[in-house]
Amino acid sequence: MHIGTARAEPGELDRGSLAVADLPTGIEERVPVIVANGADDGPTLWVHGGIHGDEATGIAVAQDAVDESLVEELRGTVVVIPNVNPAGLRRNARESYYHEDDPNRYFPTDGDGGRPPRLQEQIDAALFDLIDEHADALVDLHTAGVNSMPFIIRNRVRYGDQRTEAEARELSDEIDRLAEAFGLPLVTTYPPEEKGDVGLDRSTTSTVMDRVGIPAFTPELGSHSVVEEQHRKAGVIGVRNVMRALDMLDGDPVENDAAPEPPVDYRVRRASGPRTDRPGFVRFHLEAGDVFEEGDPIADIVTPAGAHETTVTAEHDGYVVGRREGIGVYDNDRLASLAVRDEDDLVISDDD
Ligand SMILES: [Zn+2]
Repeated sequence: MHIGTARAEPGELDRGSLAVADLPTGIEERVPVIVANGADDGPTLWVHGGIHGDEATGIAVAQDAVDESLVEELRGTVVVIPNVNPAGLRRNARESYYHEDDPNRYFPTDGDGGRPPRLQEQIDAALFDLIDEHADALVDLHTAGVNSMPFIIRNRVRYGDQRTEAEARELSDEIDRLAEAFGLPLVTTYPPEEKGDVGLDRSTTSTVMDRVGIPAFTPELGSHSVVEEQHRKAGVIGVRNVMRALDMLDGDPVENDAAPEPPVDYRVRRASGPRTDRPGFVRFHLEAGDVFEEGDPIADIVTPAGAHETTVTAEHDGYVVGRREGIGVYDNDRLASLAVRDEDDLVISDDD
């Protein structure tokens, strides 16, 4: 197996790089690559880190996901791209600086964008082609907000054009199985009618799941910009548990003792709220991991001089994943990342 300059025969691990673009200054943009080719045959697990360039813990987990000692026991191949977005990393920012694009919103789509693809879209398309050719499962390592708790985002699986409803349920079950093996609290993405983040249908995992038809999910490993050791450990245990669940390593997935327990025992999804209906300073009642019930106060909005303006309450039962960064909020800003009770189906029709 070779990806870019990383070439590994069975039983070998190699580290190299892959050219993904020609830059205006006459040099190539290259992403780092690790190929761990097991001594025996098996599936190919594809691991991305750092598609958001400031998501340091995800990058460290990707770097540590495989090593030379693991290859002897490995069945199949693990391909790791620890930093998918080097232009973001160089300035410790989420976006690449070519056109300030979020690389995780530009994976290829069937639709005509109405203009020729910009550089970030070309890079995403090249990576997608490699994944399409080689991968049997994908883990896309991220981090979320400051002081947020680690969790996994899974998508709802579409049926219609790409697959039957039964096939969608099978893929959905496999995503659950691998995500549970990883061992972080599981949070389903927004319901179709509640768009939380624009462009998520062109994220790595949405596109790969939908168009390649393989299980893919997104661990979110705490804060950005620094490697958080506890979450790094949880991430490495998690990726190796996925290898066990895919029978690439011997044994059953182990307990992820670096990961938090799920705060609630019901199924949860992301929420596009809570939002403030006026500008001001935000003062929270809760922090990451705290459980709330519908109607409980989440945060107060106060004037800059400290007078209470309003209290924002929970619209559902759930728990806090993380809080917004920055004390100042504008009208309709989202205040926190919440996991709320999910009663919607994990598979959805193209017609929905
Ligand atoms: Zn991210």
